[in-house]
Order: sequence, then C-alpha cells, then structure tokens
Amino acid sequence: MSADGSNERGRPPSVDRLARAMAEVDLPHAVLVELARAAIADGPDHWSSEAAVERAQHHRATLLAPVVNATGVLLHTNLGRAPLAVHHAAQAVNVEFDLNTGERGSRQAAVGGLLATLCGADAAIVVNNNAAAVLLVLAALAHDRQVLVSRGESVEIGGGFRVPEVMEQSGARLVDVGTTNRTRLTDYSKALARKTADVALVLKVHPSNYRVEGFVEDTPVEQLATLPVPVVADIGSGLIDANTPWLGGPPPVWLAGEPAARQTLAAGAALVTFSGDKLMGGPQSGIIAGDATLVATCARHPLARALRPGAHVLLAVQDVALAYLQRDAAQRIPFWQMAAMPVDELRVRANAVVAAAGVGDVVDSEAIPGAGSAPGTVIPSVAIRVEGDRLAVLRAAHPPVVARTRDGATLLDLRTVHPDDDAHLTAVLRACAS
Ligand SMILES: *Cc1c(COP(=O)(O)O)cnc(C)c1O
Repeated sequence: MSADGSNERGRPPSVDRLARAMAEVDLPHAVLVELARAAIADGPDHWSSEAAVERAQHHRATLLAPVVNATGVLLHTNLGRAPLAVHHAAQAVNVEFDLNTGERGSRQAAVGGLLATLCGADAAIVVNNNAAAVLLVLAALAHDRQVLVSRGESVEIGGGFRVPEVMEQSGARLVDVGTTNRTRLTDYSKALARKTADVALVLKVHPSNYRVEGFVEDTPVEQLATLPVPVVADIGSGLIDANTPWLGGPPPVWLAGEPAARQTLAAGAALVTFSGDKLMGGPQSGIIAGDATLVATCARHPLARALRPGAHVLLAVQDVALAYLQRDAAQRIPFWQMAAMPVDELRVRANAVVAAAGVGDVVDSEAIPGAGSAPGTVIPSVAIRVEGDRLAVLRAAHPPVVARTRDGATLLDLRTVHPDDDAHLTAVLRACAS
C-alpha cells in the first residue's frame, strides 16, 4: 500500500503524507519534506511508507555522529583522526582579552607560547590545519619568490594536498631540485647560485603516506641548514619529540624514522609545520613553530585571519600542549592511550568480549598509525574475528561500529576501541550471533 492509502500505482502520494510517514526518523520536518519530494520524483517504487522510512534512515546516517573505530587504524582520516574529548561550557573565553591589563589580547599568544616551549621553538601559532600552515608560510614568506623543493618531495599527501598546487595558490614559485629518488645538498646550492635565483626558502616535505626504497637519498635538515636561506620543514605528522618522554620508556619501534618537531628545529630548521590531529593527538589544527620573526610575519599576513581557529580549538590545543608539558600525555591524550596499551591488555579485553558475546575468536592483528604517519610500520594488536562480512550490520548499530574484512571474515581490532566501548561491542556481536 502506498503512503496516501491508495493502491493505485501511477498516482503519487502527497508530499505531506509521505513526509509524515517518515516522522519516526529523527530528522526535522523540512528535511523530511525534501526527502518526500525526492522519493516522489524517483518513481512509484519509492512511494511506499517502508521505502520512504528507509530513505529517511539512510539520510539520518549521513549526519555526523560518534562511531566506534574498530578498524585498527589509529588516525583514521575518515573517522576524524585523533579522538579527543572536548567539553566546553557555553561560556565566554578570554580568547582575545588580556586579563592582566583588561585590554585586547592576542588569540595566539598563550597557546603559541606553550607550543613553542614544547617544541623548543622561539614562537608558534595555530591555524586551521597543516595544509593551511604550509599555505600561510609560503604566502607570507615566499610570495613572488622561489622555493626550492626536492623532486622526491614534490608529493601529494592525499585529500587534495599536492605540493605544487599549494605552492601555486600561495603565489610562491616552485623550483624543482635533484631527481625523484636522489637529491643532494649540491643540488640545492646549484639552484641558489643561479643568476636568476631569488630564493626565499627551502621547503622540505615529509612524504608521509608512502615510502621509497632502494637507491634513494634525501638531504637531511642538518645539511640544508648550512644554506644561506631559511629551511621550512613540513613534518606533517606532528610527533613532538622523537624521544617520546611522555611514554616513560624508549620510543616504540613503530615510530622509527618519523620526523619530530623538537629534533627538526634543533637540527636547524627555521620553521616546522605539522598537523595537530595526527601524532600530536589534538583537534584538527595546524602548527607553525620556529623562528620568532618568521612566525610573526606569518601571523601578520592577511591570510592568517582567514585560517585562524576558534576558541574551542585553541582551548583543546592548549589542553594537549599542557598534557605534554606536564608529562601527562600518555594518560590524558586518547591517541597515546590507545597507541601505548599493552597487547596483553588488549587480549584480556578481547577474550572477555568474545566470552560474553558467545561469538568470534581472538586473533593477533596489526594496527597501523594511519593518516600517513610512520608509513609501512605496524603496531602489534589483537582483534576479534567473526566469520563472514558483518560490516553492514556493525555500521547499523547505535553507535555504529566501523571494522574491516579479511579472507572472508570480519576483524574488530581492539587497539582503536576505547575500553568503555567493549560492552557495546559485546552487545552488537551478540546480535550478530543470533
Ligand atoms: C597530513 C599532512 C599534510 C596535511 O595536513 P592537514 O592537517 O590534513 O591539512 C601536509 N603535509 C604533510 C607532510 C602531511 O603529512
């Protein structure tokens, strides 16, 4: 039967009736009306109440909501990268107000100061994301001038971040140096020595999400720093310190080779740029840290206003910076909690879930950092394996569970699941079994 009560195919239900048939789905009436119109336009197969409710449910599932990440990818770009709890009251914040003087203050001063201390920099500012950080640095420091980039680092990071295109948008002129697989210091110095050279800076880009092996050579920051122009290093993933002092032990092997902000600046980079929501474990943001004069030039550029974060993001970055400085990052930053959880603990949790759910078995698995961080490395982990492809059922749970399949089975990796979600996982798996 169609929604308007008539069985006549060919005569569409009224928009209003169809919209009311969808009222059980938690969406505003105006949205349901649009969905009803679309259903009517799509033809008689879409006119029943059942089809309409299904359409509304599909639409509801497109809204942003918390999900359980059981993929084993710690920084899953499609799932918002680093998980972070943000609780801010509906209160005013002294974002641009100096409580000591009662005058207007800088939104960047406090957070920037903490980040600078953290990275061993003179100064730092926060922008919307790392793409914005690179764009701002190039626009502020190299507009209409040349920027030297190794051919091996003229990369695409994904999601539309391509070094030559960002360069073009900034108004800086890309000068390729070296070759795809090998670039030496002399390649940079030759480019600098050209008669027409008007080089503003050298940009070193961490290739992030891929790795070239074999006959390859790049020029480390230590060597680039001997050149007579500033070196800007886009380290991307935002590891703060290669020694990971917040973990209270040696750095985990999966971090090997990942560039870190502190060490890159100590090696002589004038500036580093990185994402706040990758290995730093903060909210979506981009950080520019290093030489005070260069940071100030970036902060003064008109684009800085367009790329600045709001008070909520600044508060969250501040919390994260304080956690690192108080050596509390392993306890207070969810990303490091999940990265550092011992495999044995994951196995205990997995066994408990499987026993309570009465379905699945516990298998060793390999989680990955994700978001282009430490590519090619894995973090030992534990997963629950359930026969068959259960992805759609898991996604339909409230909250949805996102997992992956391998060899005809569904794998739920516990490293990326918060322990508080184990009970939900148990309930969802129990439903899978029945
Ligand atoms: C991730 C990454 C970017 C883009 O950062 P967003 O924060 O996603 O804008 C740029 N450069 C490098 C090297 C990266 O790894």
